[in-house]
Amino acid sequence: MEKLSNPQVTIETIKKYEFAFQKKFGQNFLIDAHVINKIISAADITKDDCVLEIGPGIGTMTQYLAESAGQVVAVEIDKNLLPILDETLAEYDNVTIINDDILKVDINKIVEERNGGRPIKVVANLPYYITTPIIMGLFEKHVPLLSVTVMVQKEVADRMQVGPGTKDYGALSLAVQYYAEPYIVANVPPNCFIPRPGVGSAVIRLNRYQEPPVKVKDEQLMFRLIRASFNQRRKTLQNGIANSGELSFAKEQIAKALESLGISANIRGESLSLAEFAALSDILTDK
Ligand code: SAM
Repeated sequence: MEKLSNPQVTIETIKKYEFAFQKKFGQNFLIDAHVINKIISAADITKDDCVLEIGPGIGTMTQYLAESAGQVVAVEIDKNLLPILDETLAEYDNVTIINDDILKVDINKIVEERNGGRPIKVVANLPYYITTPIIMGLFEKHVPLLSVTVMVQKEVADRMQVGPGTKDYGALSLAVQYYAEPYIVANVPPNCFIPRPGVGSAVIRLNRYQEPPVKVKDEQLMFRLIRASFNQRRKTLQNGIANSGELSFAKEQIAKALESLGISANIRGESLSLAEFAALSDILTDK
């Protein structure tokens, strides 16, 4: 069969199955071979790789993944896509489709069963409404991973990549950068999808660290401090933390901790680096 990256083939397939796009599932299918090739080459896939694809849609990128990878496991929530995937992936014997919600399925179990627990690569054109829970879920559940190469909303890609002192810097930047090294591969305009999304997109590759770039005694406390600092963006970091429902530190305690790190008491969360959040967390751990 001719590839679905040819827009005509995608349109014919959708018509043939009378497939109705579901907005609630973030369904915007790729129709640009150039973009798909860019994703595949950025993901650096070889026949030794097991790839997890999140949301294969009608199988457009899956066709390319099946040709490059040893095996592909694709998790798709929309059961209406299953008969279409049966046809579009019929010629590949290294693809397994799992009809489930990626936020509910046990990914560690899939990696154990399909790849003997060895690290996988995640490649996807993500449903944008759940980008953050998908990515943070992969990291926080310690899924054995080499890299995550995904299409996301452009401004989310920017937030993942930036450092302190920029307007996009926030809890997502710090969380992603604790687990992985981000690299924006390409910006992708709306006309590469059907239907066209209302926002610009970007492909980002996240290289999973084997060891986090900073050492911290209590990871959970550090992430609570980060969330509290960015919850009330216009407040100083010490007010944000002192007012957090998740934490119980007095303002004076935080001021003292900041002072011992040589950081101004008036600082805002957006000025602190990951290493500084780790240091602050370590001081407050001992209290
Ligand atoms: N990979 C296809 C492509 O590039 O053409 C489709 C990408 S589309 C942006 C996102 C896909 O994720 C859709 O097929 C949608 O049904 C699926 N999806 C949405 N929510 C999901 C969930 N919670 N679990 C698994 N798949 C989901």
